[in-house]
Amino acid sequence: MAQLSNKIAIAIHGGAGTLKKGMMTPVKEAEYKKALQESLDAGYKALLSGKSAVDATELAVRILEDSTLFNAGKGSVFTAGGTHEMDAAIMEGDHLKAGAVALINGIKNPISLARDIMERSDHVLLAAEGAMEFAKKLGYELKDPEYFYDEFRYQQWQEIRDTDQFQLDHSLKKDTKFGTVGAVACDQQGNLAAATSTGGMTNKRYGRIGDSPLIGCGNYANNATCAVSCTGSGEYFIRAVVAYDVSCLMEYKGLALEKAAFEVVHNRMPRIGGDGGLIAVDRHGMLTMPFNTEGMYRAARDSDGLFQLSIYKD
Ligand code: ASP
Repeated sequence: MAQLSNKIAIAIHGGAGTLKKGMMTPVKEAEYKKALQESLDAGYKALLSGKSAVDATELAVRILEDSTLFNAGKGSVFTAGGTHEMDAAIMEGDHLKAGAVALINGIKNPISLARDIMERSDHVLLAAEGAMEFAKKLGYELKDPEYFYDEFRYQQWQEIRDTDQFQLDHSLKKDTKFGTVGAVACDQQGNLAAATSTGGMTNKRYGRIGDSPLIGCGNYANNATCAVSCTGSGEYFIRAVVAYDVSCLMEYKGLALEKAAFEVVHNRMPRIGGDGGLIAVDRHGMLTMPFNTEGMYRAARDSDGLFQLSIYKD
C-alpha cells in the first residue's frame, strides 16, 4: 500500500438515542451495524484515495441519510404538524468555511445542500423557503413526502402527537428508533471536517431548529483544535455551545481532545440536564466518541489500525 502523507481518521455516529438495550434484537442490531459499517467504509476509502475530509464526511453522512434506520434524510422523524423539517451543517477546519440548512423538506441529502451553501453561496445558514429556493436554483430534485414516510416513525409520532412533548428516543419507554447522523474526519493533508444531519426531534414544533445546523453548537471544525459532530437534546446543546466548547477547552486551556470532549459530555452537559454525545477528531488523527446516554450508534477507523463499531457502552 502506498505510504500515506499523514495519518487519516474518521468517526461517524447515528445518534445518541438508541433502542433500550433489552429491546434490541440481534436482527436489528445487525442492520444498524451494517449501515454504520457501510458509511464508515465509504468515508475511510475516500480518505485513503486522497479525497478531502469534507468529501469523506459528506459521503459518510449521505449514506446514513439514505437509510431509514437513522433520523436524517429518508428516516427523518415527524414534526408536530406531521411533516418533516430537516437540518444539516458541514464545516471545514482549514479556512473555517461552513454551510448549513434548517427547516427544509423534500431534499434527499440535506448535507449536500449544506455543502453547496458553503461552496456556492456567500452565506453560512439558509432556512426554510430561502434554502428551498437555493436548492431549486441549483437543480435539486424534490422528493415526495412518501419518500420520507416511515411507518415506525409515524407510530413514534402518534404516541405523543397531542401532547406538548418532543423527544429523543431514549426518553421513551417504548421501542423506537432515532438518530441524528454525523461524521468527522482528518484527511491526508491534515485537514479536518465535520458534518451533521438530522430530522430533529419527534413532535417538535413547527419552525423549531436544533443544534445540528448551528455552527459551534452541534457541528464545528478547526484545524487548530478539532472537528466535532454532536447528537442529543438540541436545546441543551445550543445553550452549552457544545462543539465549540470542546474546541475552546483545547485552544484556551490546552486540554487534549479526549479530555476536552469528556469534560463537556460528562461534566458540563449533565450540569444543565443535557443528554447525548459527540464524535471528535483532532489534527493528529486522534478520535474520541463520548456520550452520557445508554448508547450511541458509532464507528471509527484510522490508518494506525484502530477500528471500533459499537452501540452501547463497551
Ligand atoms: N440534536 C438533534 C436535535 O436536537 C437531535 C439528535 O441528536 O438526534 O435536533
